[in-house]
Amino acid sequence: MCGFLGVIASRPVAPLLCQGLQALQHRGQDSAGIVTVDGPRFPMHHGLGLVRDVYREPEVLARLTGSLGIGHVRYPTIGRGVLDDAQPFLDRRPGVVMAHNGNITNYDELRVELLSRSIHLLSACDVEPVLCLFADALVAARPRGHTLDDVAAALADTARRTEGAFSLVAALQVDGRPTLLAFRDPSGIRPGVLGRSAEGDWAAASESVALDALGFATVGDLPPGELLVLRPGEEPLRRKVTTPAATPCVFEEIYFARPDSVTAGRPVVDRRYALGRRLAREWRERGFACDRVIPIPDTSRPAAVAFAEEVGAPYREGFIKNRYSGRTFIMADQISRADALRVKLNPIRAEFEGHRVVVVDDSIVRGSTVQRILAMVRTQGPREVHLVIHAPPVLHPCYYGIDMSTEEELAARRYAPDPRPGGLTLAEQRDMEGRWAADLAVDSLTFLSVAGLDAALAERRCAACFDGRYPVPVPAEKRDAIARERRGVGSGS
Ligand code: SF4
Repeated sequence: MCGFLGVIASRPVAPLLCQGLQALQHRGQDSAGIVTVDGPRFPMHHGLGLVRDVYREPEVLARLTGSLGIGHVRYPTIGRGVLDDAQPFLDRRPGVVMAHNGNITNYDELRVELLSRSIHLLSACDVEPVLCLFADALVAARPRGHTLDDVAAALADTARRTEGAFSLVAALQVDGRPTLLAFRDPSGIRPGVLGRSAEGDWAAASESVALDALGFATVGDLPPGELLVLRPGEEPLRRKVTTPAATPCVFEEIYFARPDSVTAGRPVVDRRYALGRRLAREWRERGFACDRVIPIPDTSRPAAVAFAEEVGAPYREGFIKNRYSGRTFIMADQISRADALRVKLNPIRAEFEGHRVVVVDDSIVRGSTVQRILAMVRTQGPREVHLVIHAPPVLHPCYYGIDMSTEEELAARRYAPDPRPGGLTLAEQRDMEGRWAADLAVDSLTFLSVAGLDAALAERRCAACFDGRYPVPVPAEKRDAIARERRGVGSGS
């Protein structure tokens, strides 16, 4: 998971990019980068850490001149972050910058192919070969003075040779004019939105909250399989690149996206309410009762509100979150997650002591965080603890740009070691939950069922980490290669 933002305007864009990237900070805390286009120059600044720290000094932003630019916040799916892997990337010939969110599953093949033509990659970030292919195709079409047709043909060629899931923005001169490009691959797995200001400026971003932060109106999602060509004061030019078969990532709705973002015309928070309501019905059917419903902040709050309404129990804030600590899931290794959690959450004894509490969480991936939280809860003297999760068990790795670990790291695989594609039957899920609840020392554990997820969201989506049905095929040898990289060193986005 990463966040990108591209802006083309009739004013300097660096302050806008900095502002918008801060709204996308939840999508990556490893590094931040901004590259602008100012005539033939590409002023840039990248740094490790948070946007506010990387661009703390006003003179840094002042150097990023130009009314076209792109920015990125990075979260490494593989390995620890290094500055070499910070996006956006620049290709000097013909002069194009690019940033993406996603995972290129044929990265190794592309690297070897590029090397055979003496094109060397300088990072382990998988947007770099995409940029090299695109730049190479442009230069092959003509050395300079690229036209819209050149750009569309180069992007179609790049998309044809690139496997995986990604959304991207790029900035370059087209027909002698500064131009912002936005592209979402045909699967539409990774998100992307288009926004417009009242003055006719354009922005493309991973999430609509970045557009809100700029005061831009959200026009809609980036259309899968289409190239958008954006210039201020003009309507976007649209070029169909490939045939779309959109299956957006359901985990964006469950966890990654901010609740105030809008996807496919609907607020993410509405979908979280729907997940909470459906989970409450499934939980109630098991014959349980409770005195209060407590979310593990922040992501599960909307689902917990809906859960509480549905079961008719009070909603309570039982944990106080230290607002100055980071988001544990997107920290790069187990040690920093454990350290972060100790300062992140503090339980309020009065909300737990003597009560039958339902604790709501969004998902369980590795399982270590929830285990530590439940250990804290048990010290608060509750009468009963029921853990409910507003997603099904994560049984399969993600190969589309989300750090869902390798199979052996997924906690659910310890209780359902060999799941079939399609997900568990309800009986199998209940059996798994019973054994897991005993290990967690809770009175019950209830995940949302796969059928419940489908019913709550009712749109065609990728839910492969839950049901094992991968919408974009990833051959076994590529899955193995990705797993090997994740166990070792390297870098994704
Ligand atoms: S496998 Fe899961 S996390 Fe990955 S894209 Fe699909 S739904 Fe999202």
